[in-house]
Amino acid sequence: MSPTTKMRDATQLPLVGDRHVDPHSYPAGIAFLDGQYLPMSQAKVSVLDWGFLHSDATYDTVHVWNGSFFRLDLHLDRFFAGLEKLRMTIPFDRDGVTEILHNCVALSGHRAAYVEMLCTRGASPTFSRDPRQAINRFMAFAVPFGSVANTEQLQRGLRLAISDKVRIPPASIDPAIKNYHWLDLVRGLYDAYDRGAETALILDFNGNVAEGPGFNVFAVRNGELSTPAIGVLPGITRRTVFDLCGEEGLTAKAADVSVASLKAADEVFITSTAGGIMPVTRIDGAGVADGKVGPVTSRLMALYWQKHDDPAWSSRVNYP
Ligand code: PLP
Repeated sequence: MSPTTKMRDATQLPLVGDRHVDPHSYPAGIAFLDGQYLPMSQAKVSVLDWGFLHSDATYDTVHVWNGSFFRLDLHLDRFFAGLEKLRMTIPFDRDGVTEILHNCVALSGHRAAYVEMLCTRGASPTFSRDPRQAINRFMAFAVPFGSVANTEQLQRGLRLAISDKVRIPPASIDPAIKNYHWLDLVRGLYDAYDRGAETALILDFNGNVAEGPGFNVFAVRNGELSTPAIGVLPGITRRTVFDLCGEEGLTAKAADVSVASLKAADEVFITSTAGGIMPVTRIDGAGVADGKVGPVTSRLMALYWQKHDDPAWSSRVNYP
C-alpha cells in the first residue's frame, strides 16, 4: 500500500477504546500559525522545534462559553509573564494576541471553545544548541470545549487516586510558568487507572498534595476551603474560587494540604479551565464524607457558571 492510499474499511483503523478512529483526524477548529489561519489538520510544526524536542515552551488556555471568553485578561497576564521569565519574544502585544484569539474562535464558529495560545522556543536554522539562536514561535488555536470531568462525573463526582509521584519542584521549574512538563502528571494518571480511579493527584516535594493533570484541588472542612500553596500552577479557576469565596463570605486559604486532611475533608473538588469546578466524591476507593457532592461545591459550581454571563468577568467573541 502506498503511503497515500486511504484505508476505506473503518475496521482497519486503529482501535481507541471501543472505536476505530482515523489517526489523521483532528477536532474541528482553527489555528493561527506563521501569520495564517488554518484548519487544525494543517497546523503543523517542525520536529526540530525545541518546544517538541525539549518541552521548551509556555502556553495558556482560556475557554469560551456561550460565545464569551471567561477572564481572558488573567490568562493573558499569566501568558505574558511566562514569556518574560523564559526570555521568549513574540511579534504581538496583548492586543495583537487578543485579536488572534478572537479570530480563531470566530472563524471556528464555536460558541463553547477551548482556546490555547502558546510559544515554543522554536528551531534554530543551523540546529544550534544555543537557545538564543532559536526563533521563537507563537501559535494559537480554538477547538471545541473539553472538560476533565464528563457529564456523569460532574453529577456524581470524580473517583480520584493519590499517586506517590512527585510534581517537578518549583526550584527546578517555576510552576507559575504554565508548561508542558507533564511526565509526572501522566505517570500519576496511569497509577490512578491501575487502581480503578478516573484521575489522579500527585504530591509536592514534602509529600503533601500538589495538583493533578490539568487541575488544582480544594478541600472543604467545617465550611473553610484550602488549596495547596506551593509547587502548583496558580490556576485562574483556583483564583476564581478565591474571588467567589470573597463574594460569598467563605474563608479560603492557600496552605499545605496533607493526604490525610484531604481524605478527611467534608468536600473535595478540582478546578480547571477545562471543566471549571468539578466535584470529587471518592479518593483511593473510599467516599469523601458521605460520598455525595457537597453543598459548598454545588453552590460554587452554580456561581462559577453564572459569572460567565457577567460582563465584569467575560468578554463577547467578535463573531462575524
Ligand atoms: N495545574 C496544571 C498543571 C494545569 O495544567 C492547569 C490547567 O491546565 C491547572 C492546574 C488549572 O489551571 P486553570 O484553572 O488556569 O485552568
